Amino acid sequence: MKYVFVTGGVLSSVGKGIITSSIGRILQFRGFSVSAVKMDPYVNVDAGTMNPYQHGEVFVTEDGGETDLDLGHYERFLNIELSRSANITTGLVYREVIEKERRGDYLGQTVQIIPHVVEEIKRLLRLNASMSKCDVLIVETGGTVGDIESLPFLEAIRQLRIEEGYDNTVFVHVPLVPTLKATGETKTKPAQHSVQELRRIGIQPDVIVARAEKPLDQASKDKLALFTSVPERAIFTSYDVQSIYSVPIILEEQGMGEYLQKRLGLLNASVETNYNDEFDRWKKLVDNILDAKKSVNIGMVGKYTTLPDAYLSITEALVHAGANIGVKPKLVWIQSERLEREEELDDVFAGVDGIVVLPGFGKRGTEGKIRAINYARTRGVPFLGVCFGMQLAVVEFARNVVGLQGANSTENDPNTPHPVVDLLPEQASIEKKGGTMRLGGYKVVLTKGSRIHSLYSSEVIQERHRHRYEVNPKYIARLVESGLSITGLSLEGGRVEVIELRNHPYFLATQFHPEFKSRPLRPSPPYLGLLKAAVAHTEGIVEKVKER
Ligand code: GLN
Repeated sequence: MKYVFVTGGVLSSVGKGIITSSIGRILQFRGFSVSAVKMDPYVNVDAGTMNPYQHGEVFVTEDGGETDLDLGHYERFLNIELSRSANITTGLVYREVIEKERRGDYLGQTVQIIPHVVEEIKRLLRLNASMSKCDVLIVETGGTVGDIESLPFLEAIRQLRIEEGYDNTVFVHVPLVPTLKATGETKTKPAQHSVQELRRIGIQPDVIVARAEKPLDQASKDKLALFTSVPERAIFTSYDVQSIYSVPIILEEQGMGEYLQKRLGLLNASVETNYNDEFDRWKKLVDNILDAKKSVNIGMVGKYTTLPDAYLSITEALVHAGANIGVKPKLVWIQSERLEREEELDDVFAGVDGIVVLPGFGKRGTEGKIRAINYARTRGVPFLGVCFGMQLAVVEFARNVVGLQGANSTENDPNTPHPVVDLLPEQASIEKKGGTMRLGGYKVVLTKGSRIHSLYSSEVIQERHRHRYEVNPKYIARLVESGLSITGLSLEGGRVEVIELRNHPYFLATQFHPEFKSRPLRPSPPYLGLLKAAVAHTEGIVEKVKER
């Protein structure tokens, strides 16, 4: 087993997750099988309880883990399915250690960070390595070198270098290398300091990926090489690009793949691939993203619109769908609360060719989302509702088509006269918030002849979930009588998973989150359907203008 350990320096949020994913992709071009792990030094046991404003989206794995959004990048770039165990947090490690201590496993020892906590981290990493059965495991440590809470994780990878051997481990350090606006000078000093900080804890990086605006000039590379003792040929730049999917290409073009392959002594690829085909396929994907001739405006209605990372998998799913049909989705972020005040929705949605009502929790902004759904339904604007977006579409339909005044989800109004969306029965007795939703992959049976069925071309699909509420079974008959099509039910329990409207260009909503399984080269059907309908919608408007 070979390990690539990725650490960050100077600043966080410089795209270390994308660089980690790209390193994996580069090794895949060469036919090596790759998996990835994210170590997050925060004390939460998982990302599930964290506010999306602080950490962005919670990424849900097939096995129901609520994980860091970087796992989403890994799955999308590497086209793999990760387990929840691929996200190791301080909280998780300590929980394991404390449980062992309570069981008496430590046989009277004093339980300490070194060795016990660090041993536990190493055990979890090795477990990931053996479970994934891959050639290379890429391990990203969140945060930046110098954070107090990162120390046990860095100590664990330092020890793994000794135990697994030099030839089987590579340390990649990703520092920010800024360019000063006033003088246009590139400054390597912060990177030098972060490497010093790494060395202080006993890690000498083998590779540096400088995160910079432009490719590093020779003088900066020389300087970095001199002060960090990293050979110049092992210094790469991840410079600003228009699409994150360009990053594997720019690193590969700088010779990173060849360097890593040699450094790790990776000789025989485990997967039969043709390097040129693989690389070309990826290049073509990027070209399709960058060169799209047409564009459509997609209104994204949600609560956290000032931090689009909160809906990362959805924005990526739209990029994948667009690349597939040569269309650029231009996202128009619309804060749902604003729609509660705004009088004229025609103004808000002017030029919008499709509307996504985003997932969410809690009452705030829900009436705005319901207005957006009403607009999409009555004006024939293509609409996709995801999770909460589906539940609120049912509320809108119940109020305005079935005529159930005051209908709502009990999440928003516990005393609603018509609880058309209600708590899942098994949720009633749950008190702890962490990890207790209906989570992960469940099978859904689609109705033959429905739109969703034709989108997936399959009768039984499996998609990921993250919710506590559902369409109330007591109201299904009345909704259907009034014209709502329920075209997807969970295989177990017959829960409402998909709704759609027939006499509408595209009105579809899912209880599941199709975005989590979208891949650059295999877009998610509901998002692809939305973009196609949005294109038809724009063209329809052009036609009408011509007629006039
Ligand atoms: N709040 C809703 C529920 O818990 C929807 C959740 C979501 O959109 N992910 O069912």
